[in-house]
Amino acid sequence: MLQCLILVFLSIVLIYLIADFLKMIRVPGLVGVYLLLPVLYILPVCVGTQDSNPDPQGYVMYCPCMGRFGNQADHFLGSLGFAKGLDRTLVLPPWIEYQTGRRGSVMVPFDSYFNITKVSEFHRVVTMEYFFDHLAGSVWPPGERISFCYGERRGPIEQSCNAKDGNPFGPFWDTYNVSFDRSEMYGPLSYDVYHQDAGTVWNRNYPPEKFPVLAFTGAPASFPVQLDNVKLQEFVVFNEFWRGLAENWVKRNLPKGPFVGIHLRNGMDWDKACEHISSSNHLFSSPQCLGYRNENGELYQELCIPSDSTIVKQIKKAVKKVGAVAIFIASDNDFMVRLLSEKLKNLGVSLHHQDEGDSIPHLDLAILSRSNFFIGNCISSFSAFVKRSRDVEGLPSGFWGYPRPRNTHDEL
Ligand code: GDP
Ligand code: MN
Repeated sequence: MLQCLILVFLSIVLIYLIADFLKMIRVPGLVGVYLLLPVLYILPVCVGTQDSNPDPQGYVMYCPCMGRFGNQADHFLGSLGFAKGLDRTLVLPPWIEYQTGRRGSVMVPFDSYFNITKVSEFHRVVTMEYFFDHLAGSVWPPGERISFCYGERRGPIEQSCNAKDGNPFGPFWDTYNVSFDRSEMYGPLSYDVYHQDAGTVWNRNYPPEKFPVLAFTGAPASFPVQLDNVKLQEFVVFNEFWRGLAENWVKRNLPKGPFVGIHLRNGMDWDKACEHISSSNHLFSSPQCLGYRNENGELYQELCIPSDSTIVKQIKKAVKKVGAVAIFIASDNDFMVRLLSEKLKNLGVSLHHQDEGDSIPHLDLAILSRSNFFIGNCISSFSAFVKRSRDVEGLPSGFWGYPRPRNTHDEL
C-alpha cells in the first residue's frame, strides 16, 4: 500500500514537471490529460483489496476439503471469523467442485463467484492465486511449509497430517505446487475465537514471526456454521457477473411480477442422508430452523423429505402471501413439475427451472436469493446459504415442514 502511494505521488510530481516543460515548449493542454492516464491506471491497483506487502501478522490458509458448496460456504464463514480473531490475513481458497462426468476435483478461484472487495470490508484477505503469485516466495518459501491439523490423520506417514493424502487433499495443494515439510498438531486448541480467547492463545503458541502461515488440512471452522459466524454472510455476495446472470435469467424466463423460489433437495444421496434423522437432535444445517439448542423444535422426517402435500400446501400459502405470478424451482434431481403443475393449476402461476441435466448451482443460488419468498430445506446447507443471504437483505424465507404442524406427530 505504502509503495503504491509513493508511486502515485511520484507520478503526480512527474506529470507536473512534464506538463510544466510542455507549457514551456508550447504544447496544447490536451496532452496533459493523456499524461493523467497512468495515474488513473495505478490508483485502482492501490485501493484494490489485495495487498502486495506481506502481512506481519501472518496468514491463515486452509483446504475446503469437506463437502460441496454448502458445506464449504459454512466453513468459509467460520474461517473468516477465525482469521479475524487471530488478526491474520485470510487466504481465500478456491471452491472445490466435483463435476459430474469428470474425475477428481476442480479448483474454482474464490472471486469467480464472489466479490472480494465486500469480504475485505470485514477483514484483510487475499486470494490463494494472488498469494502464490505475489507473496509465497518471500512469506512462505518451500522448505518451511508446515501443515496444521488437530491430530494425526491417517495416511502413508506416521505422526503426520498427511495433508495431501486423498482427493481433494492432494489435488488442492498440487494446484499451487505446495508440498509440506512437516506437520504441526495443534490439538486441543479451539477455533472458537468468541468464547475461549482462542485468538490470543493461537498467537501465543504460534507467533506470526515464527509461523507466518497457518496452513490447515481442513477448515479451521465447524459445520454447520457456528452461530456467531452466521452474520458474516453479509460479506459474501455474488460478483457483478453472477448478479447480472441471475437478473437476466429471471428477466428472460419469468413473467413480470413477484415470484416464489423453492429448493427441492431430493437426490439419491439426500434420501440416504435423511435416514439419520431419527438418531440425533441435529442433522447438517438443521439449527437454522430448529435453533442451535433445539429451542424451536425437534428433528422429524418432513424437514428432510417433505411430502407432496406439504410442498403443495406451503407453495400455495407463499404464492398468496406475496401475490406471486411464478414459481422458480431449484433442484439437484427432481423438479416435480408434473405434480406441481397439476396441483397448482388453479393458482394461475407459471413454473420455471433451469435446464434439467446441466443446471448451474450458483445460478440457482443467485436466483433463489432474489425471489420474493423462499422455501428451502432446513437440513440442507445449500438452502442455508440462500436463507442467510436473504436474511441480510431482510427478505422472507420459510422451510419445508417448519414449523411442524400440531396435528401430525410421528407414531411412537
Ligand atoms: P447439502 O448437501 O444440501 O447440505 O448442500 P451441498 O452444497 O453441500 O451439496 C449439495 C450439492 O448438490 C450442491 O453443492 C450442488 O452441487 C447440488 N445441488 C443441491 N441442490 C441443488 C439445486 O437446487 N440446484 C443445483 N443446480 N444443484 C444443487
Ligand atoms: Mn452436502
